[in-house]
Amino acid sequence: MSSGLSRRAVLRAFVPASPEETLVRVASIGASCVEAKGVSCRRCGEVCDENAIRFVPLAGGRAAPVLNPTMCSGCGECLAPCPVSAITLLARDTALLARETARLETHA
Ligand code: SF4
Ligand code: SF4
Repeated sequence: MSSGLSRRAVLRAFVPASPEETLVRVASIGASCVEAKGVSCRRCGEVCDENAIRFVPLAGGRAAPVLNPTMCSGCGECLAPCPVSAITLLARDTALLARETARLETHA
C-alpha cells in the first residue's frame, strides 16, 4: 500500500525548509559522480535554478561538475535527481573551511 508521499515530499524531510535554513547550508559533490567516469548525466546542473553547478571538460570526453558555493542557496533540489547520491548538503561554514584548507595545502 502506498504512503501517498511523493519522492519530493520525502526529500523535504531531509533538506532545509526555510530560506533562513538554506543560507547556512551548501551542496557538495562527491567522488561518486558518474560524469568524471565518462558517463553523461548532468541532472544536477539541469535542476539548479541558481546555475551554481557548471561542468568543466576533462580529457577523454569526461567532465567534472564544479559547484560555486557563493551561488548555491542550499535548497537541496539537486540531491534527489542524482542517480548515485553523490550530492550532500553541508553546513556552509564547514564546507567553506574545508575548501579553504584544501586551497592552502595546494599552495603550501
Ligand atoms: S543545493 Fe540548490 S542551489 Fe545548491 S547546487 Fe543544489 S540545486 Fe543548486
Ligand atoms: S546528478 Fe550526480 S552523477 Fe549526475 S552529474 Fe550531478 S553529481 Fe554527477
